[in-house]
Amino acid sequence: MPELPEVETSRRGIEPHILGKKIKDVVIREHRLRWPIPKSLPDKLRQMKLTQVDRRGKYLLLRFGNNAKTGTVIIHLGMSGSLRICPLSTPAEKHDHIDFVFGNNKILRLKDPRKFGCVLWTSKPAEQHKLLNKLGPEPLDEVFSSDYLYKKSRKRTCSIKNFIMNSHTVVGVGNIYASESLFIAGINPKRKAGSLSRTRTEKLVAAIKQILLDAIDQGGTTLRDFTREDGQPGYFAQKLFVYGRAGKACAKCGSVIKQFTQQQRSTFYCTTCQK
Ligand SMILES: [Zn+2]
Repeated sequence: MPELPEVETSRRGIEPHILGKKIKDVVIREHRLRWPIPKSLPDKLRQMKLTQVDRRGKYLLLRFGNNAKTGTVIIHLGMSGSLRICPLSTPAEKHDHIDFVFGNNKILRLKDPRKFGCVLWTSKPAEQHKLLNKLGPEPLDEVFSSDYLYKKSRKRTCSIKNFIMNSHTVVGVGNIYASESLFIAGINPKRKAGSLSRTRTEKLVAAIKQILLDAIDQGGTTLRDFTREDGQPGYFAQKLFVYGRAGKACAKCGSVIKQFTQQQRSTFYCTTCQK
């Protein structure tokens, strides 16, 4: 599943090819994604210029403008979505649901086999859209500080893992990154969020930022894949300490990595290193 680093990598991968370009046409082959792609999208977008390619959490925001009119295409990649840039003549394959055709004869193409993604339009400021207006801070933003997380977590009795995976707390900390950052910070995923000390909160915030930055750095090596003819940009596997390693030896202490389920998600942790 595309996580925040993959979405950020997608943003960086597509931006240089289409930023500042005008939309010539929009071709919708399949409307039925998680929510239907608005049928009016081609009419709304024709002749609009792409002025910014932003990301908020796991949403990509393509901001368009044209004299008095402005608006934003909000894209989520769902479980299996990916974006690529291809030349105008490139035949569409199965699951290529929508093409944004730009004036420079490049196409931004969304493939999404499982159709859990979305492509929506808003003419209001995108941040006010109901999918975005309740999101917590960006993990790599200064606002997401140990002070913020410490204050926010007081009196919270849910587990620290569920707390950091909640998008009202902070966006973009998916299951893999939650498990890994708790390992790096030495925190038991079952611990109550409100019981974390200031010092340990600092370690956790630093770990979350570091692991996401490392993943984005690694994604940088795949940027050329966004325009390759021979396939979709690959999602990258980081070196993981605990995630997916149940029954294997902890890289720090040699104990066996344990697995259990929290809110229907697998959690992996080391009972020796994480308290
Ligand atoms: Zn260990």
